[in-house]
Amino acid sequence: MKLVFVLVMVLAAISPIAAQTASCKVGVVAAPVGFWTWAPESTISVYVVESDFKPAELEYLLAPLSPWNAVSETTGSRVKFEYKGLVSRAQYCENCLTIVRGPVFDKSKRHLTELRTYSAARNRIMTWATIVVDPLLTNPETLTNALVHELGHSFGLLDCYSCKQNSTVMIQFKSVNVSNNMDRPSACDVAQVKLAYETLAQRVTQPTAVLVDEGEEPVDDDTPVVIRKP
Ligand SMILES: [Zn+2]
Repeated sequence: MKLVFVLVMVLAAISPIAAQTASCKVGVVAAPVGFWTWAPESTISVYVVESDFKPAELEYLLAPLSPWNAVSETTGSRVKFEYKGLVSRAQYCENCLTIVRGPVFDKSKRHLTELRTYSAARNRIMTWATIVVDPLLTNPETLTNALVHELGHSFGLLDCYSCKQNSTVMIQFKSVNVSNNMDRPSACDVAQVKLAYETLAQRVTQPTAVLVDEGEEPVDDDTPVVIRKP
């Protein structure tokens, strides 16, 4: 297996889904919903590249797994994360997620982490993914905030930089290493993930709709970067 990835494209095929619950107003207290998700009912094996993190950082990186697991039934995703241990490099296997460090900082967007993913079936259901954490992100609390956010992307949520504080894990950081206080999905995050998985069920039963992307604009955020199979 080659170690080198080719970044083939920044995801250009995301179009927020319009439907929303009345109380979870998108752009105000709820993140928009895109299309990239883990397969429903899958169990995701989570790995951490040992040489990239300090031992003390581990619990902060993994803290968001439990709260996302806790809402697995409510969201309808039935996706569960299982931490499998430290590894020497990213794992490219079905339903595998590896947390690594890498230079992804973008000052203008206050972007410090990135979700990179690959869909074997080219249907935006993720086969594997890596969460890349910039070396500049060192505050333990912000590691948790960043991971809970990136896991949100893996459930189909998009960034919501206009959302109110404490409303969603998809809000922007005020600045590097300053916590946004979000360590678990909010009620509106749960509602929006539920919407994402309901929409997924519809498009999976209507396969002809999957590749229809006309008229959609690239989204300027840190939603998944698609990678080619190594
Ligand atoms: Zn993001």
